[in-house]
Amino acid sequence: MKCLVCQSDSKKIYDLPSEKIRKNLSDYYSEKVPEVIKILDYQMFECTKCSLVFANPASPGNNEFYVWISRHNSYYPTARWEWDLLLDYIQINSSKKLLEIGSGDGKFLRLCVEKYPEKFFEGIDTNPEQVVKCKKLGINCYCGELKDYSKTHKNKFDLIVAFHCLEHVDDPLELIKQCKKMLNKNGKILISTPFRLEKDFWFDIMDHPPHHLTRWNKSAYTELAHQANLKSSFYMPFAPNSLVRALYATFVKFYGKKEVSKKMLIVSMLRHPLFFFSCFLGHLLIKSDFFLEKENGKFELKRFKPNTVVLVELGE
Ligand SMILES: [Zn+2]
Repeated sequence: MKCLVCQSDSKKIYDLPSEKIRKNLSDYYSEKVPEVIKILDYQMFECTKCSLVFANPASPGNNEFYVWISRHNSYYPTARWEWDLLLDYIQINSSKKLLEIGSGDGKFLRLCVEKYPEKFFEGIDTNPEQVVKCKKLGINCYCGELKDYSKTHKNKFDLIVAFHCLEHVDDPLELIKQCKKMLNKNGKILISTPFRLEKDFWFDIMDHPPHHLTRWNKSAYTELAHQANLKSSFYMPFAPNSLVRALYATFVKFYGKKEVSKKMLIVSMLRHPLFFFSCFLGHLLIKSDFFLEKENGKFELKRFKPNTVVLVELGE
């Protein structure tokens, strides 16, 4: 199997049969997965060169799958640290025209329009219902595929952003190449995805197919940039310490991503001490790396253990 990004040889790391996916999704949402949702058997591969982890087949969830998961309130976030960072980034870089790929219900673009009414913002999404929501908010939004849109919007944007979108597509390199064609001179692409650690502490079904088809770390992103003939920089908020992360990991593993109180964190640790200690030790062993962190209004390169989400800047 060839890597989706660099075409190097990849090795199979584990099987992901459809029954296992169904069971984990049912546990995650405390609701049986509707029969109308077809789920394939997948295999997970890791590239021997760039370490991208990807699903085979590179086949995303069908429409019914996305309708089902997006019905759950927790699916669309109300805030992201990347949004705050981008709102400052627009000012620092004097960007005038911005495109958001996968603009969803338009929460980020609305923040942009409110803060910078004089600038040009546009979204693109394949979901007609979400595009209607955007337009009702007075936001420019195109309904359709990026490959069609990119043909008629060459050299148009200073900034192209995509939050938690790249990991859903079957050809991430092609997405970046299409974005590159739409950039002005000195334009930038900013992409955020989950950040894959060296070791998984629990099996996160939402970071696997049919939801996510690829899993990214710094090495895979560096190779993606290289293949597209672009340079990369990595933004991330400072990560909590190993003790706090192990507490959260234990809670999420056994109680799902629901509201959490300090008391519940302690209770989950006391009920599952072995899991908690293996997480804690595992986190202590994770290597630190360099990321740009925002401090006192400036971006500074710092060395720390990776957080769960990364924002990557790609540009000439
Ligand atoms: Zn690769």
